[in-house]
Amino acid sequence: MVLPSEPEFEQALQELAQSLGYFLQKNPSYQKALDIVQIPERVIQFRVVWEDDSGKPQVNRGFRVQYNSALGPYKGGLRLHPSVNLSILKFLGFEQTFKNALTGLNMGGGKGGSDFDPKGKSDAEIRRFCVSFMTELSRHIGQDTDVPAGDIGTGSREVGFLFGQYRKLRNEFVGVLTGKGNSWGGSYIRPEATGYGLIYYVEHMIAKACPEYSLTKPSTLVAISGSGNVAQYTALKVIELGGTVLSLSDSKGSLIAKQGFTKDVVQKVAELKAKSGSLESFLSFADEHAYTYYPGQRPWTLLPQVHIALPSATQNEVSAEEANALVKAGVRIVAEGSNMGCTMEAIKIFENSRKQGGDGGVWYAPGKASNCGGVAVSGLEMAQNSQRLTWTFEEVDAKLKGIMRECYNICLQAGAEWSGEDVSSGKEILPSLLRGANVAGFIKV
Ligand code: GLU
Repeated sequence: MVLPSEPEFEQALQELAQSLGYFLQKNPSYQKALDIVQIPERVIQFRVVWEDDSGKPQVNRGFRVQYNSALGPYKGGLRLHPSVNLSILKFLGFEQTFKNALTGLNMGGGKGGSDFDPKGKSDAEIRRFCVSFMTELSRHIGQDTDVPAGDIGTGSREVGFLFGQYRKLRNEFVGVLTGKGNSWGGSYIRPEATGYGLIYYVEHMIAKACPEYSLTKPSTLVAISGSGNVAQYTALKVIELGGTVLSLSDSKGSLIAKQGFTKDVVQKVAELKAKSGSLESFLSFADEHAYTYYPGQRPWTLLPQVHIALPSATQNEVSAEEANALVKAGVRIVAEGSNMGCTMEAIKIFENSRKQGGDGGVWYAPGKASNCGGVAVSGLEMAQNSQRLTWTFEEVDAKLKGIMRECYNICLQAGAEWSGEDVSSGKEILPSLLRGANVAGFIKV
């Protein structure tokens, strides 16, 4: 039974169950596995009391959902955001379980976090919060038990505060968190991994679905939402390859560049975000690339033409109306950098468009496949920590590319094998990567 107040979790569960329809019809014995896998192995909830700069006590809720350890230690990030609640963390832990399976590495799924809002807090307040949070969490995690990492609101600085407290409490230096700084056990490419991995995945999709486009061509137009870690490195990779990035956004509005973002501007955005700034400060920012800020809007309806859309902010950030606007703008590929970036209605529009086949179809990749590069490099960080070794940038990048290629191939193959779709029309219809990711991840777990 799921409580009625868990809309995000129910959505994630429904999406998986729908994708499994044909597979379960042919393999009814797996039905029980679906019943089992939808209940987290363990949910930990705790109180986090910390002291603000004026010396007053403040309190937040802390959580860790240890979702599934069938494939290895629980693994997944910690989200620090005022919206955090158990429904969101259950959905994220559930998604993480299948995502981690798709990396091919031995990691179970988990997620945690707090409704603490890092925005507007001083460094010292964030540190005191992290110390208090870890004081409780430390008894539940371990390098072979549960290995948290970053997510929205948790970057390498917060991971540092958390790691420091764990080390002090347990008197051991082990890889109990990933996303650590390079000089104390972190892996090369971990900060870049989700964004780079997303682009490596999308390159395979382009080659199959619309080879007339290429991220090496400035004529290929890419819309990105978000402006945090994932969006930044996604944009930088597209720019490095030679494609055109049309948009970035935050919770307050969107920044559009008709001629494409430059690397310098993405770096400026990164600096601004590190200080919890808002894109609003680009309001009157103009050079030959003409950056326009649209308050209160997401990018999807603001672009007359776009070929590739990469939602990279948070869950449910593409509505049906926005999905229709993207289809109208000529989008061919939608791949999520965020977890559950598209609503069920938006996914339906993309999937229906795919089923029409031909040149106009949209091919959609769910986050559990296309954004698995982040947690994959976390898995590589765990492997390096266990061996007390540091692989080079090139070594990690090559492994990340291999993992994304394998993940794409698995999704493609399972999508074709378990489609249950009528392909008798003779038109070439691309397999559903949504179904492929869900079926392949489910079978593995
Ligand atoms: N939070 C990231 C995700 O959603 C990364 C988790 C990790 O590295 O453990 O996959």
